[in-house]
Amino acid sequence: LGPIKLGIIGCGIAARDLHFPVLQSLKDKFKIVMVCNHTEQKAREFAEMAGGVPWTLDYKELLKNPEVEAVDITLPIHMNYETVKNAVRFKKHVIVEKPLAANIEEAKKLASIEKHYKGVLMVAENYRYSPLYLKAGEMIKEGLIGELYGAFWDIFRRMDPDNKYAKTRWRIEHQYEGGFITDAGIHNIAVLRTLCGDFSTGIAAIESINPGIGKMDSMSFLFATSHMVKGVLNIYYSVDGYREDKLLLIGTEGTIIVEDGSRITLKKEGDQDTVADFPESGGYLEEFEDFYKAVRGGGKVLSTFHEAYMDLTVMLGAIHSAEGKPVKA
Ligand code: NAP
Repeated sequence: LGPIKLGIIGCGIAARDLHFPVLQSLKDKFKIVMVCNHTEQKAREFAEMAGGVPWTLDYKELLKNPEVEAVDITLPIHMNYETVKNAVRFKKHVIVEKPLAANIEEAKKLASIEKHYKGVLMVAENYRYSPLYLKAGEMIKEGLIGELYGAFWDIFRRMDPDNKYAKTRWRIEHQYEGGFITDAGIHNIAVLRTLCGDFSTGIAAIESINPGIGKMDSMSFLFATSHMVKGVLNIYYSVDGYREDKLLLIGTEGTIIVEDGSRITLKKEGDQDTVADFPESGGYLEEFEDFYKAVRGGGKVLSTFHEAYMDLTVMLGAIHSAEGKPVKA
């Protein structure tokens, strides 16, 4: 059958900087046959970059193209619901960027399609495929830290207004719940659910330090999971003068530290630390390989709509808990 004939909907940062390089390295598996962006310059430039493929300003035109077997949706988050629904109507395989939808109702409706849909539906939650976090999961399963009982993840950074993501207006005037907390924090929830089990309860406190980057930018989320893991996820995007990304996984016989999205350290009392570096741990290559395998081989993807729906339920549950509503997993 050859490479999957792919249409790209949305020619922005994710498509250009994250997906395109991977698709270039997987030319035996993917062939971009059409692209869409509602503004002409971006559509033209991407089409040119992809080897002079046809482009359109209207994504429904791309969906109508019978040559397009699968679509890669990299649009502003609030557009995911409508676009995925239309892609399904046209019987395309779908890979859509995270989070699945702008709110729980829409995510639930999309997840319900998965049960009976004949094509492949996948959310591009690259952290699910990151060799770094997969390694942490293996270490836990191998029993290297005994029983995991604590997970503490600190993400402290400053989201400057000139950051490329902060420059996209749809993120600042967000029509999806949670702003950057949801947009980026959904990755952390995906990892925590994978490593620690489903969330059973939790409560968050939320703050807006810099309203210039959206309705909220700071959150502490205290949680417990069905695997009896307790922990705190701290996401602070307006921290002045300090930066950290550190996940501490505490077990009865040791501790795993995952730092800066690239290094794992195993610490055990009385032993030398074991350190491993994962410079290429984005998970983008692996997610597209999984998508290919499912489309051509007929299997199930790791990052299903259902998992993405569950991630969003926890993320928005945390946000709602800060408004006085309890988290429901
Ligand atoms: P972006 O740069 O704003 O890209 C979105 C693109 O969609 C823009 O080029 C925009 O064009 C275009 N667009 C908007 N409305 C459209 C419409 N009706 N029809 C066709 N094109 C339209 O944003 P981004 O950073 O790429 O984010 C896109 C998605 O990727 C989001 O879901 C985000 O969460 C996700 N993402 C994931 C990661 C990751 O690591 N997994 C990283 C970044 C982003 P204009 O700019 O001309 O309006």
